[in-house]
Amino acid sequence: MSFPKIILQTVQALLEILMPGDCPGCHEPVEGGPFRRLCKLCAGNIDWICRPFCDRCGLPSPSVAMVSRHCSHCRDLQPSFGKGRALFLSTGVGRSFIHEVKYHGDRTLLSDLPSLILSNRDFLDHLENAVLVPVPLHRRRLRHRGYNQSVWIAEALSACFDIPLKVDPILVRTRNTRTQTRLSREARMANVKNAFALKPGTRLDNSRRYVVVDDVFTTGSTLDACAGVLLESGLEQVDVATLGHG
Ligand SMILES: [Zn+2]
Ligand SMILES: [Zn+2]
Repeated sequence: MSFPKIILQTVQALLEILMPGDCPGCHEPVEGGPFRRLCKLCAGNIDWICRPFCDRCGLPSPSVAMVSRHCSHCRDLQPSFGKGRALFLSTGVGRSFIHEVKYHGDRTLLSDLPSLILSNRDFLDHLENAVLVPVPLHRRRLRHRGYNQSVWIAEALSACFDIPLKVDPILVRTRNTRTQTRLSREARMANVKNAFALKPGTRLDNSRRYVVVDDVFTTGSTLDACAGVLLESGLEQVDVATLGHG
């Protein structure tokens, strides 16, 4: 990171502490309530994920309770990872929350994560004692953006526990892939194929459960590719977790 960028980010961080931004849902200042950056009304409007949900990707669906533990998408995809959990649907306020973190670098929103996550026992249990592995950005995109939102999210999730979870950025993106946003499912899978690798010299601990962390679960192709690298490198169990789904 260049020197002026570090200064710019430090000044930005100080300003955010002194003057926290508006709520990402209603764009109004947050006054009172249990959260620093989300107003009580918008927090209540987030589409929280609760049971029953797909055991693989976390998508809530009544049919998974009756037919199978997996949604139809995961039955087709047959992902390499084991279990997956998402905190909320990527709609409305949840979508704005992720968008502000990812594209506007608003990290202070994640300071509300410990309060938000407390009400979701399934998500907390899923992360318990895990090693968190953020989905990496290619070094060129990281240089351009200045941060990796998946690292921020993994660090914020880690801090939700009395004993912080280990965050281990052991994956690298070896190809600067196109943004996945406008691609079809097949194109997404082709786009991320062979795009990730284990950092040279990494030692994996098979006694630990590794959870790959990303901002949102869309088709699961990026998470599948990352989990595939870890499994091919010798791990036996790799799970995934995202803030949003959809
Ligand atoms: Zn609001
Ligand atoms: Zn699923």
